[in-house]
Amino acid sequence: MLVVMSQHATPEEIDAVIAAIEGKGYMARPIPGGERVAIGVLHNKGAVDASHFLGLPGVKDVIPVTRPYKLVSREFQPEDTVIQVGDVLIGDEHLTLIAGPCAVESKAQCLNIAKKVKRSGAHLFRGGAFKPRTSPYSFQGLGEEGLKILAQVRETTGLPVITEALDTETFGLVEDYTDVIQIGARNMQNFSLLRRAGRSQKPVLIKRGMAATIEEWLMAAEYVLEGGNTQVILCERGVRTFAHHSRNTLDVSAVAAVRKESHLPVIVDPSHAAGRRDQVIPLSRAAVAVGAHGLMVEVHHNPDEALSDGAQSLYPEQFEILCQEIHAIFDVFHPSHPVKPSAT
Ligand code: PEP
Ligand code: MN
Repeated sequence: MLVVMSQHATPEEIDAVIAAIEGKGYMARPIPGGERVAIGVLHNKGAVDASHFLGLPGVKDVIPVTRPYKLVSREFQPEDTVIQVGDVLIGDEHLTLIAGPCAVESKAQCLNIAKKVKRSGAHLFRGGAFKPRTSPYSFQGLGEEGLKILAQVRETTGLPVITEALDTETFGLVEDYTDVIQIGARNMQNFSLLRRAGRSQKPVLIKRGMAATIEEWLMAAEYVLEGGNTQVILCERGVRTFAHHSRNTLDVSAVAAVRKESHLPVIVDPSHAAGRRDQVIPLSRAAVAVGAHGLMVEVHHNPDEALSDGAQSLYPEQFEILCQEIHAIFDVFHPSHPVKPSAT
């Protein structure tokens, strides 16, 4: 349930409503909004009796929340969340581009790619230091050495970085180095990892699990918000289907569904959806047309030698083309928006 305060409610009236909610044994979560102050009622087992709060001074309305996810829903917060990472904005009217290799392989590799993708318009650099691999014999990432390389990339290029936290043991280490923490598709329902992310001060990007429903995905985000971290970005990366023509199937409609249900930014990773280079640009166009707030794309200067996901990595020159095409598409739907999206 959501208790909506009148625009003129005093801080004392808001505090009194919070105390009344807590007095009933629930958790009160104030939701700062553009035009209204609202207080979410959480941790109720059944329906909450609105009459407890309706008569309190400063209370304008009490709205039942129908969705199982609450903090991430538009019922709780109608306005889009915008997340700031350095000078980069993610969400609402901004189009944010994240690019880089699947895995951090060396300093020279990362700097080479980072400089090129930055020139083409990337706002953030990606690269895995801890890699979730199907086979224990595959390259597992450079670990802390990889995190140090990412920090050097940020220092040299000015690009903020995003990398994956694979488990709770290494979460703190990743958090110390990176600007955005990625939770991978295979970990979308790792609830201890989600709870740890909820205690972080850094933005968290949650990939959709490869067999997850929209509701399960939003509930994963709910864990992080419930823990106190409101800076969550969702990322659609394809789900597993019977298709053989691609590694996964990009669920373009998920973007439209999530944008309707939630105020959180939702971006698309066409690389892991496609699994092959030739589909990455077409899927990126579709993602921007359907309303994604950004893209995360794998780029490698020498994909044939990449230690992971070379087949789906774009050449830097292809990423340059991708940027030009998606900006053209973005401009069709946002004619009055400045062409340099995402910069503050
Ligand atoms: C990745 O982005 O490097 C990755 C492993 O993606 P996913 O979790 O979507 O498979
Ligand atoms: Mn990859």
